[in-house]
Order: sequence, then C-alpha cells, then structure tokens
Amino acid sequence: MNQTADVAIVGAGVHGASLAFHLARRGADVVVLERGSVGAGATGRSSGFVRMHYDLEADSRLAWASLPYFQDWRGRVGDGDCSFVQTGFVQLVPPELADALRANVEMQCGIGIETRLVGPADVSALVPGMVVDDVVVAAYEPSSGYADPDGTAAGFMAAARRLGARLVTGCQVEAVTVEAGRVTGVATAEGRWSAPTVVDAAGAWAAEIARTVGVEIPVQPWRHNTAYFGLPSGRSPVFPVVIDFAGGIYFRPEGRALMLVGLETDNEVGGSPDRPDSSMDASTTDVMVKGICRRLPWMENGTFRAAHGGQDGITPDQRPILCQAGPSGFFLDCGHSGTGFKTAPAIGACMAELILDGHAQTADISGYGLQRFSEDRPLVGANAYGMLWR
Ligand SMILES: Cc1cc2nc3c(=O)[nH]c(=O)nc-3n(C[C@H](O)[C@H](O)[C@H](O)COP(=O)(O)OP(=O)(O)OC[C@H]3O[C@@H](n4cnc5c(N)ncnc54)[C@H](O)[C@@H]3O)c2cc1C
Repeated sequence: MNQTADVAIVGAGVHGASLAFHLARRGADVVVLERGSVGAGATGRSSGFVRMHYDLEADSRLAWASLPYFQDWRGRVGDGDCSFVQTGFVQLVPPELADALRANVEMQCGIGIETRLVGPADVSALVPGMVVDDVVVAAYEPSSGYADPDGTAAGFMAAARRLGARLVTGCQVEAVTVEAGRVTGVATAEGRWSAPTVVDAAGAWAAEIARTVGVEIPVQPWRHNTAYFGLPSGRSPVFPVVIDFAGGIYFRPEGRALMLVGLETDNEVGGSPDRPDSSMDASTTDVMVKGICRRLPWMENGTFRAAHGGQDGITPDQRPILCQAGPSGFFLDCGHSGTGFKTAPAIGACMAELILDGHAQTADISGYGLQRFSEDRPLVGANAYGMLWR
C-alpha cells in the first residue's frame, strides 16, 4: 500500500479530529491515522470541562473562540453531538490569590467573556451546602459547562469524513519520513502514506512521533485520577462545574445521579505511555473522598462508583505546543497538558490556518511555539496562580 494525502494527521483524539474537520472544510485532502479508535487516548477519559477561566490571556482566548462550537454544534459542525450542558462554572482560589483572580476576571471581561466576580454567599447559593469559609472572592461564568468528549471527537471526525477526509483506525504510525529536510509522509504498520505535511497529534505519545524526525519535545505522559460518585438520594444534580484550586479538587454533575470528581494533586508525570493503566489505589480514593467531603459535607452520604482516570501529554509550563518544527512540513499539535478538550475547536481552526495560510487568524497561537522551552520563556499568566497540576 502506498497512498497519498495533502495532510496526514497522527492521532484521532479531539485535536486530530478537530484539525481534520477544519482542514477538510477548506478543501484539503486529509488522512487521520489512529492506532486504536477515535477518542482512545486522553479524549475518551476527559472530564469535558468547558470554561474560559485561565490566568493566561491566550488560553482564555482559545477557550472563548471554542465556546460557540459547543453552543451551536449543529450549525458549526453538523454531524454527531457534543452534548454540551450549560451548568455555569465557578472558580475558587485560596485567599492569597484573590487579587490575581480579580485581575484575571477583568482580563477575561476585556476579551468579551461572560464572567463576573461573586462572593461567598453567591457561591453557596450556586452550590447549596458548599463550605465557603475560606472563599474571599470567586469567578462565575454562567455560559460555561461541560460536554461529551467522545461525542465531540466523533462528531468532528464524522463531519471531516463527510467533507472527504479519510480515517484509518487500528493503524500504528511507526515513523514520519523525511527526504532532504522535507516531510514526505509516514511509515505505518500497514504500509506507507505519502504526504508533504504531517501533524503530530498523538497526545501522550507525541514525543515518540517527534523523535522519528529528530525533534525533541518536552512532552511527557501525565496520568490523572478522576472518579464517579453517586449523589446522596434526594440531592439535586443541578449545580455548576467547580474548580477548587484551594482544595486541589474539581467536580461537576454527570447526568441526574452522579458527580465526576478530579484531583489537581498527585498526578504522575513521566514513564512510558504504554505502561498499563492501574486503577486508582485506595489512598488516592481516600484523598479524593476527603477533598470532596471537606467542600461538600453532604457528599458523606455519596457512594463511590468507578475510577475514570486517563493520560495526556504534559509540557513543563502546562500549555500546548502548536507550531511547525524540525523538517519542513512537520507540525506539532500536542502537549495539551490536561486542559485541551475545551480548546480543541479553536486550536483545530488555528492549526488549519497555520498549515494552509502560514499563519493563524482565529486566535493568536504564536506564543505556543516549541522554542519557548529552549529559550527559557515558559508561558506564564500576567496574574499567575501557579501550576494547575501539582
Ligand atoms: C482524565 C482526564 C480528564 C481531563 N479533563 C479535561 C477537562 O475537563 N477539560 C479539558 O479541557 N481537558 C481535559 N483533559 C485534557 C483533554 O482531554 C486532552 O488535552 C485532550 O483530550 C487531548 O486530545 P488529543 O487529541 O491531543 O490527544 P488524545 O485524545 O490522547 O489522542 C491522541 C491519539 O493518538 C493516538 N496515537 C498515539 N500514538 C500513535 C501512533 N504512533 N500511531 C497512530 N495513532 C497514535 C492515540 O491512540 C490517541 O487516540 C483531561 C484529560 C484527562 C486524561
């Protein structure tokens, strides 16, 4: 087999699928090569938060440019369903970061994001029974919520295929091929694809793909613990998505009877992305239960249902790498660092513009280049909270 395409994308996670959609709607001949199935990596395990609150303006802009896709999936994408649920979103920070949060809400209002400052009484009205004794001020986004990551990736992929893109699942890319400093395609377990442009959207495996063209990228596997809990009987599932940076935990409703809880702490970085998934151990479950019950004492009567963690690729500044790198025709769309679901629609549009036009228009992604690491210029917010994942 030796087939051809204009662009070969390695990985059919939400980023590979979004990019395939945006390229195909511009008329590019695209193939997506996926060793498992659509959403088999981080995407299928994602908590699906859709919120705009970041301490880095560029991140907030990408999330903001992505929101209309979630709100109007049918109009913007057309196939499948992202199942966006508008619950609202609350960001909590420890008291010493109250001024930074105020400044970040001001920055986001300047972008046009629907967000405002709320006090402890507002927070406990939004999330009944929540302990707010340490809350000085919080951010509230009424139009945010959560979506279904599998549905989002599958919908992007279905729309891309309707527009002519090809998807090959069960196809392991072994190397990107290069001649005279130019990408010529990929070698796979099933044969060769010729393509003048190859995009590395391989999530936790991105560094392995980049290494095949001699490009070292600081993307490491990052393992993240989340779990579903049953809500106590009679508890309403109507509450917002919450990131509790003070407590190192986040949560959101899932359907009518469950809560999804994630830990910002104790995430494992490094190791092989192919090592087996170990289900959450008892001590991690204990940390999670203590964390959620401290913030929501009524969860004492909740029930542990199932662990649902996964892995993503993480960079040293916990921001993605979006650029051309190494041989001509090789692009990086990776290192999404545990927060890349919500930004996938706009990043797909930006990467398609970068590949086809030479620069992105949907949002400014020029700060997400690979050189920032070797030049010691990590991306840091003007009013930084510190690392999200600790
Ligand atoms: C548990 C968890 C919770 C998260 N929660 C949120 C959240 O609430 N909100 C948010 O915005 N983000 C969240 N994230 C982050 C977000 O899910 C990821 O950033 C995003 O899904 C990454 O998508 P991707 O397409 O880059 O990678 P992936 O979804 O990992 O896709 C990469 C794909 O590449 C394939 N692949 C790898 N190597 C090869 C190869 N050699 N050949 C062929 N195919 C290959 C893999 O099989 C995989 O399907 C979470 C992540 C995790 C793990």
